[in-house]
Amino acid sequence: MSETVLREAIVRFGRSMFERGLTFGSSGNISARLDSGWLMTPTNVALDRLDPVRLSKLDDDGQLLTGDAPTKESFLHIAMYRERATAKAVVHLHSTYSVAVSCLADVDAADVLPPVTAYYVMRVGSLPLVPYHPPGDLELAEAVRKLAGRHHAVLLANHGPIVAGDSLEAAVNAIEELEETAKLFLLLRQEKTRFLTPEQVAEVRRRYPTT
Ligand SMILES: [Zn+2]
Repeated sequence: MSETVLREAIVRFGRSMFERGLTFGSSGNISARLDSGWLMTPTNVALDRLDPVRLSKLDDDGQLLTGDAPTKESFLHIAMYRERATAKAVVHLHSTYSVAVSCLADVDAADVLPPVTAYYVMRVGSLPLVPYHPPGDLELAEAVRKLAGRHHAVLLANHGPIVAGDSLEAAVNAIEELEETAKLFLLLRQEKTRFLTPEQVAEVRRRYPTT
């Protein structure tokens, strides 16, 4: 995919996620890998108002080459890419239901959400919780980096999800699946629920290995 097409795709996915309430204000950010370096959404811009020519272009060291200053959370994206050689895109949202789940006291930090549906197992797989750190804390990037080699999706406690994909579309689809699963999980919390069994999860994983 050429850089021009990739810039337009970031703008299109950003607007789509904003218009459907997956992100709001100037929260949320998107990045995509280039042959060398990355494109990233700029700081303080709502995802429905991105301008393709003003996206931040960073070199392999994360230094700004062209465009506006990148999101202050660029270090989280770079931590994911450093551990995942095949990742082509990373999406991070403060989407409501995922953030709600990230605040729950009694969850399994090794895998926060149960296997509610086969699509969740296929697109997300497992979801570790990254301990809380204040915004901008570089230790948060280190905590993400430690998990990113084994997980393409992680949930930052009291903050939100960050998901890598082998294409921009795959990363967006996975984070949307995660958000809908968080919503279902919260809807079902008071109900007696039948989640997928370990055998059913194993069968889905055999048929559709996750990245
Ligand atoms: Zn954030």
